[in-house]
Amino acid sequence: MEDNDHRRIGQELDLFTFSDLVGPGLPLWTPKGTVVREELDKFVWELRSAYGYSRVTIPHLTKKELYETSGHWDKFAEDLFRITSRDGREMALKPMNCPHHTQIFNRRPHSYREMPQRYAETTMVYRDEQSGELSGLTRVLSITQDDSHVFCRTSQIKEEFLKIWDIVDTFYKQFGFSLRVRLSFRDPAAPEKYIGTPAVWDMAEEQLREIAKERGADYIEGPGEAALYGPKLDFMAKNAAGREWQVATIQLDLNQPDRFDLNCINEKGEKERIVMIHSAITGSIERCVAVLLEHLGGVLPTWLSPVQARVLPIGEGHMAFAHNAYQQLLKAGIRAELDESGESLGKKIREAKTLKVPYLLVIGDAEVAAGTATLEGRTGKLGALPIAEIISKLQEEIKNRA
Ligand SMILES: [Zn+2]
Repeated sequence: MEDNDHRRIGQELDLFTFSDLVGPGLPLWTPKGTVVREELDKFVWELRSAYGYSRVTIPHLTKKELYETSGHWDKFAEDLFRITSRDGREMALKPMNCPHHTQIFNRRPHSYREMPQRYAETTMVYRDEQSGELSGLTRVLSITQDDSHVFCRTSQIKEEFLKIWDIVDTFYKQFGFSLRVRLSFRDPAAPEKYIGTPAVWDMAEEQLREIAKERGADYIEGPGEAALYGPKLDFMAKNAAGREWQVATIQLDLNQPDRFDLNCINEKGEKERIVMIHSAITGSIERCVAVLLEHLGGVLPTWLSPVQARVLPIGEGHMAFAHNAYQQLLKAGIRAELDESGESLGKKIREAKTLKVPYLLVIGDAEVAAGTATLEGRTGKLGALPIAEIISKLQEEIKNRA
């Protein structure tokens, strides 16, 4: 395993684990790993909510009829986890969220005035893969998508795509990536793999080409890379070292709206067929954590670090003051730990650095006397500062995602 393999870093930082009893491809997220997942999701949600998205919530199970209608029961058959209920009903674990979301949209008629409707949900989906293909966080059976579905009119496609593109840009710029786009189109040699007619596909693919051109994007076309129900924009994130990962995706879907009979009532009072736009900014949270760990070598920015500060008392006599400083950090909303071991200061510092904790607060005689802590960041010592000052410095950095 290479040094910057996310499996190694994830274990060192204690973010996730696997259990033989639970099975391969089913990562279990530790308290620290859960913090990282939630911080990533919070960031995506902040970006989405600024564009008028609303959260929805669905169960992880469904009757088979939902997937017969969507087409997944046949076309996605091998990847579907099927379950039979005690009275013999055939059900499935969701491999995607869109069919459920269509049923929320269709709960009542929608006027053109309320379009688009933008639903977002971060939730797990389950896809059966052969266990030989499972690896770390990049090939898993339980995948957390920061999924969203925009239900909109044909005339609103471009605007909605560009909004999501802005979110993708902001998210990946935060981590120092540059983005490249692939227009993922259908495989012209295998039309039977897809849902929908060639005319509808032609129209959808042409729309994506126009959007990429209008955006002035660095793009390539990828025949055969489309989703079952429509073409996609797939984003590749490249880091300064030239490594590239497939990350976010935006998909145009003109087919599921037909299958589920999704409409709005237009200006003339008539039913108008709408379209769906699927998107995931992180791609999946598992994949995103893997990519970020490898890209950053485990050195997460302070806002994303599971532990943001560690308090290191030098000796037993400094423990009471250190405990008080630790309590103040926690009360201020900073994720802090207190090293209560009897180890030497050198050893305490080495351990905190192995765990890639961004800030260390060293407390000895001089600090207790002055009511300060000697702050050490990733770039070195920052000097002795009052605890309140350390707290506001960290809060500022966290708030700005600096
Ligand atoms: Zn979807």
